[in-house]
Amino acid sequence: MRQSLIMGNWKMNGSRQDGQALANTLAEGLGSVTQEVAVCVPFVYLSDIQQTLTGSAIVVGAQNVADQTSGAYTGEVSATMLADCGCKYALVGHSERRSYYGDTNASVAKRFIEAQKQNIIPVLCVGETLEERESNRTFQVVDEQLDAVIDAAGIDAFQKAVIAYEPVWAIGTGKTATDDQAQEVHRYIRQRIAARSQTVADSVQILYGGSVKPDNAKALFAMPDIDGGLVGGASLDAKGFLQICHSV
Ligand code: PEP
Repeated sequence: MRQSLIMGNWKMNGSRQDGQALANTLAEGLGSVTQEVAVCVPFVYLSDIQQTLTGSAIVVGAQNVADQTSGAYTGEVSATMLADCGCKYALVGHSERRSYYGDTNASVAKRFIEAQKQNIIPVLCVGETLEERESNRTFQVVDEQLDAVIDAAGIDAFQKAVIAYEPVWAIGTGKTATDDQAQEVHRYIRQRIAARSQTVADSVQILYGGSVKPDNAKALFAMPDIDGGLVGGASLDAKGFLQICHSV
């Protein structure tokens, strides 16, 4: 039985004060849950938010990690630094990183490996654009994004990793994949992993991301291969995010 995971992605939003207020409200409102809850916060607030959440059921993650271990890489943040800040998770290959900052499948694979070297659980984000979906290339794109990491890190690395299926056309657009559309790709991803290792396929958590909201979360999370959600915009509203957390 896979544990569910609900992960908020605050992106580049809010101030220190906003983040602390949000984290406090979440910590107070979550109550006892069986699913894991995490928030991916801007680098500069990681330590603060981690401290605010200490003693709660919520853990912190980063929104990215460097593809190098250390050295002359101005502006980058290493996995060692993230571990220092108490990060449990790090997103790798988020579509906004891939499309605005040139993250390639090869660099995403390196980020994934760097995170794991420091016992940070990478959350590998994959997903197709609208154009790719409309030209029937969804599975091909997901294959390429997944295989680049499997080939570099090995399938067993996914015993300590999470996959997030995030159709790019659904991120921040208010358009959610239907439950069946999401389940179809989640099942496909699990089968692709199973072709290399059934054990890993059975245990790996696959999250859905793309305009998850309080009113659509329950149906999405009820699908057999959807193990929770990666939630962007809706994670900035404490009440809504708590509702999503309780939709599992
Ligand atoms: C995301 O940032 O990963 C995301 C899914 O955003 P949103 O929920 O706003 O679509």
